[in-house]
This record gives sequence, structure tokens and C-alpha cells, in this order.
Amino acid sequence: MFMFKSKGRIILFVFLMLSIFVGVGFFIYNFCIPRFKITNFNGIVSKVYSEDFDLRKVCYGNIFGCKNIEPTIVGEYDLNNVGTYEVEYVFEYDGHTYTKSGVLNVVDNEAPEITKSEEDIQVCPNNGKILVGTLTAKDKYEGDLTEKLNINYNKETNKLLASVSDDSGNKKEESFDVIASDTEPPVITINGDASISIKNGSEYSDQGAKAVDNCDGEVEVTINNPVNTKKNGTYEVVYIAKDSSDNVSEVKRTVKVYTPTTTSSSSSSSYSCEGKIKYSCGGSGKVIYLTFDDGPSGYTSQLLDVLKQYNVKATFFVTGNGSDAAIKREYDEGHTVALHSYTHNYGQIYASMDAYFADLERINDRVERITGKRSTIVRFPGGSSNTVSRKSKCIMTSLAHELANRGYVYYDWNISSGDAGGTTSTDQVYLNVVNRLGNGRYVVLQHDSKGYSVRAVERIIQYGQSHGYTFARLEHDSTTCHHATAN
Ligand SMILES: [Zn+2]
Repeated sequence: MFMFKSKGRIILFVFLMLSIFVGVGFFIYNFCIPRFKITNFNGIVSKVYSEDFDLRKVCYGNIFGCKNIEPTIVGEYDLNNVGTYEVEYVFEYDGHTYTKSGVLNVVDNEAPEITKSEEDIQVCPNNGKILVGTLTAKDKYEGDLTEKLNINYNKETNKLLASVSDDSGNKKEESFDVIASDTEPPVITINGDASISIKNGSEYSDQGAKAVDNCDGEVEVTINNPVNTKKNGTYEVVYIAKDSSDNVSEVKRTVKVYTPTTTSSSSSSSYSCEGKIKYSCGGSGKVIYLTFDDGPSGYTSQLLDVLKQYNVKATFFVTGNGSDAAIKREYDEGHTVALHSYTHNYGQIYASMDAYFADLERINDRVERITGKRSTIVRFPGGSSNTVSRKSKCIMTSLAHELANRGYVYYDWNISSGDAGGTTSTDQVYLNVVNRLGNGRYVVLQHDSKGYSVRAVERIIQYGQSHGYTFARLEHDSTTCHHATAN
């Protein structure tokens, strides 16, 4: 028992001594023997301020103190690009050169900045959609982060809370005071024409309208439709739309109910000169209707550029010539696409009423194919007062009545630019137009098939706009402009 006991003590003792020895050795080895220690080699970078990059020192020493040594970094790394780079740290100590491999992390630890525009921010009261002003986000390393902005509107505090994070996870949050106010009514767009004519007794079904609001999106349209197709007259269909801030807008469509006159519309070669059309053109109000015949042509697109630049709407009496694209552009840019003639062949179109309408249908088919709509607005080749049609006696008077029967209106002009006659100078076209302007309404005849005439348009517009004239396009119910029929 004893032997066993003392033998056990000896083992215990030796084990104890061994532990102390190992422990002390471990302590001395780890904490007292001087060594190199790299405390932190993480680089910090921003795209703009890469010179701020700062390496921690290499430390030589032990737990009781150490001395910093500046290392040199050897290897491929880019302080302007976030990444992990394997490099060598080289440093000198006591006449010796030491090399240690390590990892250099170039990181972006700066959060993006959110900036408010100088003007106050105005938002929709119902959903906080920004109406005026902007919030933008910019990160020194990643650049513009505006698209990543997350914006929430708090109705109670009347603030926008904006937050954004960059790809390195640096997040910025900021709140901004805003003004909640919407004073803009919905915009109503009528389906179909704003003014239409229908025959007495026919059916009228309104095509309706669409209203879009800046805050609410699409809103409901209330329609007040008083049209009585059994009673001649001019009716107004009224469209009303209201947004959630009680802004109201109203748009009207004019519907004319008429009874066709009962002039003969036979295709016989003799027509009646009864009811000859008297001259009637003008009215008051300093309005200029620029109208262009015989196009489209190669000059039409430069004309459209000028009209667009000055925001002027005009009327194009088109033919079978020129490109579909030009007519499409006329229509898309808000001009009136009206009917002149498909062939513009006087002998052919004025040979008979049937021949005239066959040609008119043909140009209207072209217009419909391109714009999706038939036109009801016409200008006779040569005007309604022409005498080139004299072989078909009284045909112009008869055509003028028959156009009305078929729901068309036609327009002549009260200012001729002279571009179809002797004038071939841009200056003269300009003078011919502006010298005849007074206080009335003017339908100006030009041809977009003539380059020298098209080049006068910019100056005509400049003159008109600086002298108090309004430019308008001809519509179905514009002021009448008829010459006296001569045939
Ligand atoms: Zn013509």
C-alpha cells in the first residue's frame, strides 16, 4: 500500500514539475522573446482620396513593448480598387532584411452621401411621390447611386426618409422635410377627334376620354353627353376628371348634328351653279394658320423641325407624293393632316364629281393607313375659285356642296405666299406673307414642296410671335375660309 502510495506521489510530483516547466517555457516563448508582429495590414481606400491610404506598422518586440518599423509592400495591388491582394511585406531590422507574405485588403468603408436639390421638395399628399425637387445619392467609390435610393414618405411627420447602401454595405439614412401639396389637375385626352360632324338621324356613340393625374395615375372621367342626333345643332360633350386633392379639369368635344343639303350628287356631266359659294374668310383675333400644300416632299422634315422648335402647329394638305414617314411625323407632332389630292391632276380630278371623289377617297385611304384616322378637312387643288375646272361647268359649286353633304369641310386661303406663282425667293415669300397681316385671322397658303418657301417659315413665325399673333392648325370647326366659286 505504502509503496504504491509513495510511487503515486513521485509520479504526481514529476507531472507537476513538468507542467510548470512547460508553462513557464510557453510564457517565455510567447511573451518575452522578441519577434516581429504585423498588427494590421488592412488598407482603406476611397476612389478619390487614395493618398489617405495608411498602413499599420510592423512591430518588433514582446509583451513588454515593441518598436514600429515601416514596411515596404511588394506585389501587385491597386489602392483605387476594392479587393484582396496577396503581397510581400519587406522590412529592415538591425541590418537584416525580413520578408513576410500577407494579404492586403483594399476596402471601401465610406457611406454614400444623399443630397437634396436647392429648391424645396414638394410631394403628392397621398403617396409621397416627388413633384418638385430631387434627392440624389453619390458614393466616393461607386459614383452615382441615385437609382438605388430607397425613399419612404411618412405622412404624419411630413418627412421623406431616404436610405441607400453601397456594394460594400456602407449604409446612409437621412430624412428630409417636404411640402405635401398637389395643385395640378388630371390631364384629359379625348379619344377621337375634338370636333366631329354627324348627319341628323345617324347614331352617335361617344368614344370617351382618358385622364391621367400626376399623383393618382389614371383617374375616372365623368362624361356629360347631351348630343341629340335628331335635332340639328352644335353640342358639347363635357369630360370632367378630379384627383385626390380635388383638382378638377374639364375638356369638351364639339359634336355638330346637321342635315345634308339635297343638291344633286349624280355623276351626270352637268352640274348646278345654283347656290354659288360667296367669299367668306377671316374673322378677327390675330391668328395665323400656316398651311402647306402638295407635300410631303424632301423639304417636309426640315419644315417640321422648325415648327417643333417654335412649338407651332400647322396644317398639311397632303398628296400621293412623298414618304409615309413624313405624314406620320406630321400627325405625331400634332399637326393637322388634311386632304389635297392623290394625283393633283386637274384634268383627271375635275373631269366629274365621281372622278373627284374617287381621287379624294384615295388620298384619304393613304392618310388613314398612315395615321389610323380619316380626315374630314379638304383643300381643292387650285382652290375652290379655280378656273382650271371650267370644262366641267359648275363642278366647283357642286363639289363644295357635295363635300358638306359628305361631312367634309374645305379651306381656301386669304394670304397667298406666292410660292406657286412667280416668286422663287425666300425673302419675297416672307414679305408676301407678313405684309398682308393685320388684326384678323389668316389662312396662309404655302407649299412644302418648295424649298425656298419652307426656308421662309422660321422668319414668318418669328415675325408672328413677336407681333402678338397666335399660330393654330385648322380643325373641322375652324373659322370658314371659302373663296367665291367661279365655276
Ligand atoms: Zn396643290
